Amino acid sequence: MQYINPEHIRVDPYLSPLFDDKEITANILRLDLLHPVVSGNKWFKLRYYIEKAQEQNKNSLVTFGGAWSNHIHATAAAGKMVGLKTIGIIRGEAPARLSTTLLQATELGMQLHFISREEYRQKPIPESIDLSSSQLIPEGGYGTTGARGAATILSLINPDDYTHIVCAVGSGTMMAGLMNAYWSKGVVLGISAMKNNQALESDVRQLLEVPAISPVIIHDYHFGGFAKYNSRLLDFMNEVYRYTGIPTDIVYTGKLFFALNDLAWKNYFPPGSKILLIHSGGLQGNQSLPNGSLIF
Ligand SMILES: *Cc1c(COP(=O)(O)O)cnc(C)c1O
Repeated sequence: MQYINPEHIRVDPYLSPLFDDKEITANILRLDLLHPVVSGNKWFKLRYYIEKAQEQNKNSLVTFGGAWSNHIHATAAAGKMVGLKTIGIIRGEAPARLSTTLLQATELGMQLHFISREEYRQKPIPESIDLSSSQLIPEGGYGTTGARGAATILSLINPDDYTHIVCAVGSGTMMAGLMNAYWSKGVVLGISAMKNNQALESDVRQLLEVPAISPVIIHDYHFGGFAKYNSRLLDFMNEVYRYTGIPTDIVYTGKLFFALNDLAWKNYFPPGSKILLIHSGGLQGNQSLPNGSLIF
């Protein structure tokens, strides 16, 4: 398996007549280029959990997620890469046919345990799992360990080059890490991938090292809810690809790119703003789409 190589990550200019018109600039941090499987922000969130596991001589990583979870997929791949067993506790009864994400996770060696949606809320650890030899990773990598890893994303850029960092928000771990690394330089703006998840602000705040700063999260770009999409979103993603050659995903980054354009259109960003958009990866999630939905 190919190893993680942060040198694959680069910053691309995001050119657009709209941004010219509004006198703003946007660049895209291409975390999606990190690795074909362990792509995007997930590696950064996982890195210190893996380090902990290695320091404590644990032999496996145990984590939680749903059938299309990028986090499950990335944990399976990262575990294989570093020689740790992986165990995924999956929300919902075992399906007759595994989702592509779960199928690929098992191919990467992950052992799956399905539990009912009700049970899943408690995040129980099946008795067969030996906790003394396992490193637990909360769902989505959420926690200070995950946020600390996410903060290292900004070592890839010069924070002084930007006035705003705009990122997608799921569990809020990445956003908290970015805020911890960037609060003294500029604003981190989060675009929620969920509908009405008003707990997000406090979830992010819990992970902040500087409690006096407040998360700014916009909740208007969910397209009907988490992982929901419509033809308007797909058309937009195809248009972005045609124009920039950059693929986005239906769960997080398609909505993120859409939000950036819509907010720019609505004059959210003052003239002179220099925006860094975090392309956090997630492209594997597009495998859930019917064939032919996207041109990439
Ligand atoms: C998981 C994920 C996010 C959200 O990250 P959180 O730290 O959970 O908020 C954003 N974008 C992509 C592509 C992801 O896979």
